[in-house]
Amino acid sequence: MKIVDLSYLKRHFKDIKEAYTVREIIEEAKSVFFQKILANVKILPVETKYIKEVIKKAKEVGVLDYLSRADIKLCALAYKYRDIAIMFTNDLYIQNLCYFLGVKFEGDQKIEYAKIFRYVCPKCGVISERPICPKCGSIADRKVVKALKI
Ligand SMILES: [Zn+2]
Repeated sequence: MKIVDLSYLKRHFKDIKEAYTVREIIEEAKSVFFQKILANVKILPVETKYIKEVIKKAKEVGVLDYLSRADIKLCALAYKYRDIAIMFTNDLYIQNLCYFLGVKFEGDQKIEYAKIFRYVCPKCGVISERPICPKCGSIADRKVVKALKI
């Protein structure tokens, strides 16, 4: 079961025989591309419970602010069908999240490390999930706090 995001679709639509995505990805594509690239792509619904689980995991991994609503929903679709789905994407943050969701992924380039990100305050060193330090209000730097070789 091939699940595709827009970056992958843009590059490979001629080779795609059958793939699946979510409505938001199709809507993004319509504004940029011709209808023909969507010919072999079907829309599937995703229940809210899967979206919530993906948002929770994206927060844990520290990538939520790097993903669009469409990205989250697409990851939820892949998560729903994780036993049979493979996510095809060139977005490295989506690949990173798929690793932690237990979803197989492919792309023209693949990440070598799965990373967990946090914000670290340059003034007081507090580590948090938010870009503004909860202790002193400074703008925090995004850092990799854990990297796992894939
Ligand atoms: Zn601080």
